[in-house]
Amino acid sequence: MKKLLPTSTAGSLPKPSWLAEPETLWSPWKLQDEALIEGKQDALRVSLQEQQLAGIDIVSDGEQTRQHFVTTFIEHLNGVDFENRKTVRIRNRYDANVPTVTGDVSRQNSVFVEDAKFLRQQTKQPIKWALPGPMTMIDTLYDDHYRSREKLAWEFAKILNQEAKELEAAGVDIIQFDEPAFNVFFDEVNDWGIATLERAIEGLKCETAVHICYGYGIKANTDWKKTLGTEWRQYEEIFPKLQKSNIDIISLECHNSRVPIELLGLLRGKKVMVGAIDVATNTIETPEEVADTLRKALQFVDADKLYPCTNCGMTPLPRAVARAKLHALSAGTDIVRKELSV
Ligand SMILES: [Zn+2]
Repeated sequence: MKKLLPTSTAGSLPKPSWLAEPETLWSPWKLQDEALIEGKQDALRVSLQEQQLAGIDIVSDGEQTRQHFVTTFIEHLNGVDFENRKTVRIRNRYDANVPTVTGDVSRQNSVFVEDAKFLRQQTKQPIKWALPGPMTMIDTLYDDHYRSREKLAWEFAKILNQEAKELEAAGVDIIQFDEPAFNVFFDEVNDWGIATLERAIEGLKCETAVHICYGYGIKANTDWKKTLGTEWRQYEEIFPKLQKSNIDIISLECHNSRVPIELLGLLRGKKVMVGAIDVATNTIETPEEVADTLRKALQFVDADKLYPCTNCGMTPLPRAVARAKLHALSAGTDIVRKELSV
């Protein structure tokens, strides 16, 4: 029998301090060459074990082998010059020094497939693998070649599709595309953002997900959230079209956010990964708080389509905090499972 309310995480988990500087985005590696490859694999094993001990049902690599959820993928592509950097405004929110697209983009070799095979060897549980989405990728670059956000997004979608097919063949059960940019550029999302995402999943037989959040708990994001008012209605702009798309699962932020819960009703029929863990605070949720968020979501999502999850990645958090939050997610989900089985 399929387990009700299968739990998972949005993706990233903290790295051990012997591998990378803790609580830091884009943290440089502390190892080199062969030792780095081995260190990343060991970290993946530890991250998997922490998820398993916490009772997480759909496990991931905890993104232990990548420095950043967007740039690590782009580093493996042709056509992007990492020496030639320009300052751009990311998601209309903060300035970052980013690489430049200087020629046709292409993927010479697989990026994450060996890592995915390694994870597959370690567990029989369902595994989820995260890739950046096309729109979020173009928003993290300066384009001096195509000079069209849409055109570049279509090119990235083709590349992502190649990678996704190889991940599927490696035994990945759910491929997730991270698209925080969907929460900012509504016109583009509806014009071509969702269409490029559908291009990225073309021909896949495994399940597919898109993760749309309000970002990691870093200052640029928490400052932005303060400007969004008492009700965060961004999802309202994009859910109607996502509901009609071929994407199977929508992963969204819920707990402690100001997203009106009834917006989940716009996704009727889709599976929904409901964020029941806040990644912007070190305070550990109680199981009852998690259960409360899930109960509210159940008013708008059928029980067989609800997947309890975290709001976003937990890479910037202290390890002990992230671990405790995983346990809270499981314990809170158990409470609701019992209520549903009565
Ligand atoms: Zn996120």
